[in-house]
Amino acid sequence: MCLDNMQSKFIADAMLGKLARWLRILGYDTYYSNDIEDWKVIKIAEKDKRVILTRDRGLCIRAKKKGLECFLIPPDYDIISILAKLSIKYGIDLEARIEASRCSECNGILEKVDENRWRCTRCKKEYWKGKHWKTIEEILIKAKSKKEKDELSYNSRTRNRGGQNTSQDSKTSNNEKIGVAKLN
Ligand SMILES: [Zn+2]
Repeated sequence: MCLDNMQSKFIADAMLGKLARWLRILGYDTYYSNDIEDWKVIKIAEKDKRVILTRDRGLCIRAKKKGLECFLIPPDYDIISILAKLSIKYGIDLEARIEASRCSECNGILEKVDENRWRCTRCKKEYWKGKHWKTIEEILIKAKSKKEKDELSYNSRTRNRGGQNTSQDSKTSNNEKIGVAKLN
């Protein structure tokens, strides 16, 4: 499936509430319910053309058999690593702009109420740039630098693969892989 030039939409499985909130803050249409069953995740992904986000390998295999896009999140990934990976794979913009955010509670679209306040058009929850916004920005800075590191290590691995594969080259490449594993 080609995801270029297209704003990705997501569906997070019932275990990934935190990730769903993050994607909504970043402005991505993300379906989430804490009691959704696997068959329904697949059904909604199919209907709305959403990328499935899950830690459940079985669910991912079933989804891929149906031709759906599924991102299997490794069990040891924290939110920073997940956001970095999603940004590389689906072009997620790691910049928080409250005016482009969605409601983290219900995925609704926000409308501006006054200079510093926004309100969800669906559940009416209000948002403003309080102290928490600073925390959001700090985490996104970390996610961005993680993304850069991941991209660098990916590029150097690809370069090594493409070059003359002398034993020295493959040794370097293995060392890099170990480095990456440690970082994660
Ligand atoms: Zn809402």
